[in-house]
Amino acid sequence: MSVFDVDLFVIGAGSGGVRAARMAAGLGVRVAIAENRYLGGTCVNVGCVPKKLFVYASHFREDFEAAKGFGWSVAELQFDWSCLLAQKNQEIHRLQGVYQGLLNDSGVQVIEGQARLVDAHTVAIGERQVHCERILIATGGWPWIPDIPGKEFVVTSNEMFTLDKLPKRMLIVGGGYIAVEFAGIMHGLGVQTTLCYRGTKLLRGFDEDVRDFVAQEIQKKGIDIRLNAQINRIEKIDNVLLAHSDQDQLIEVDLVLYATGRKPNTASLGLESLGVALGAGGAITVNEHYQTNIPSIYALGDVTDRLNLTPVATAEAMALVNQLYTDRATTVDYDNIPTAVFSQPNVGTVGLTEDEARQRYPDIDIYKSVFRPMKHTLSGLDEKTLMKIVVNRSSDKVLGIHMVGPEAAEIIQGMAVAMRAGATKAVFDSTIGIHPTAAEEFVTMRKPVHP
Ligand code: FAD
Ligand code: NDP
Repeated sequence: MSVFDVDLFVIGAGSGGVRAARMAAGLGVRVAIAENRYLGGTCVNVGCVPKKLFVYASHFREDFEAAKGFGWSVAELQFDWSCLLAQKNQEIHRLQGVYQGLLNDSGVQVIEGQARLVDAHTVAIGERQVHCERILIATGGWPWIPDIPGKEFVVTSNEMFTLDKLPKRMLIVGGGYIAVEFAGIMHGLGVQTTLCYRGTKLLRGFDEDVRDFVAQEIQKKGIDIRLNAQINRIEKIDNVLLAHSDQDQLIEVDLVLYATGRKPNTASLGLESLGVALGAGGAITVNEHYQTNIPSIYALGDVTDRLNLTPVATAEAMALVNQLYTDRATTVDYDNIPTAVFSQPNVGTVGLTEDEARQRYPDIDIYKSVFRPMKHTLSGLDEKTLMKIVVNRSSDKVLGIHMVGPEAAEIIQGMAVAMRAGATKAVFDSTIGIHPTAAEEFVTMRKPVHP
């Protein structure tokens, strides 16, 4: 008879927590999970899922425009924000139910409420205390806004999913995933959108060609991008917001979104008093087994602030459960993790950027293609696609694949499989294309470009 109430207590029912809880329970482990906000966490409620639904919604404007070149005439466009919100909410509720069902069916005890650690083996939720052999912290992250005068007037990505009405004009501050994705969404929905970024190029960390190309494409669509611009004050006069930049620009809008990063959700968990080691920004420090400096306490996903992506959190959860409760220990390989920015057009990328490859290998070849997608030969739209392959010349191994263009996320997922399999450029060259597609360009780029 165990001295513990449960074997594993998971704090946070988001992507990582739910996966760990139900996998472990499926192996006969006694599991409880606490959630204080919404089942499914960030991804389901205020992240990947509603964001992607909004991306679809916003793209229709351009699709209707493109349809004219194919003989369609479309009556006057009308868009109903409240309808989109209601549809989105219905889908999120459905998904929450799916998560509840998955947890119930696997025998996980679901506890509603805010959890905190009392000691290395005890979690408290309100007055209730649960004694557990192991604790897994999967509490994710939360939007962070710099401390500037007027920060109380701005919204974060969280609020973007429940706005009462669409603004006429909006400012987005930041140049990362969320800023670029929401710029496309809001512009597509008809909002006059300005994007202010403090640096010289959007999407730091991505390949330089991708950064240049995506900025050029989204600017062509009509998004006002202001680079090297830091907002240092927001003023509210009646219902109008005035954003003051360090370049003495005054940007007048109805809504300001700050997309300036997220911080790990570690406050009020009681970690400091237990001596759980935290790194920069409050991220929980873990070893390669997701174990903190306190052996019974584990952490994974965004709360460890490494690669903050849903598939990474779920992969970590599966690896942890395998390590703890099976004899098939698996690990997560953090190399060559594909990622996409659901900008319009999409960015899809896997592997090394050109600069990273040049730092690691003496000789690399770059294959690059910029073209007008076939659809736009008739649509009349001036959108271009970029595809790029980075190759190690001596081994012929493909080191990185990058794309900006329609469905880049879908295309790069397949490319990521090829890269994991260690494909060489010769393998790409010997692969027969599917014609006519954009993706076939990846197997028909024959000549390296010379810088
Ligand atoms: P979360 O999913 O954040 O789950 C943490 C859970 O813990 C939450 O439900 C929270 O309420 C709960 N919690 C916190 N503290 C406590 C407590 N003390 N007690 C009880 N419960 C608690 N990733 C992608 O891969 N693709 C995308 O397209 C994508 N789009 C995104 C768009 C946006 C706008 C945002 C914000 C994120 C996006 N992400 C995307 C990132 C993705 O959502 C996260 O990487 C993922 O959700 C992390 O999972 P997690 O389990 O670590 O944390
Ligand atoms: P990011 O880290 O991607 O971007 C934050 C942006 O804010 C950067 O451009 C950064 O600039 C800027 N910034 C930071 N501090 C300040 C400041 N004080 N003043 C002005 N600008 C500032 O974070 P996001 O919030 O966009 O997204 C959070 C994470 O969520 C992402 O990193 C990603 O892991 C995940 N996500 C994934 C998505 C996907 O998979 N499609 C979609 C959305 C989110 P600088 O570059 O100069 O530091």
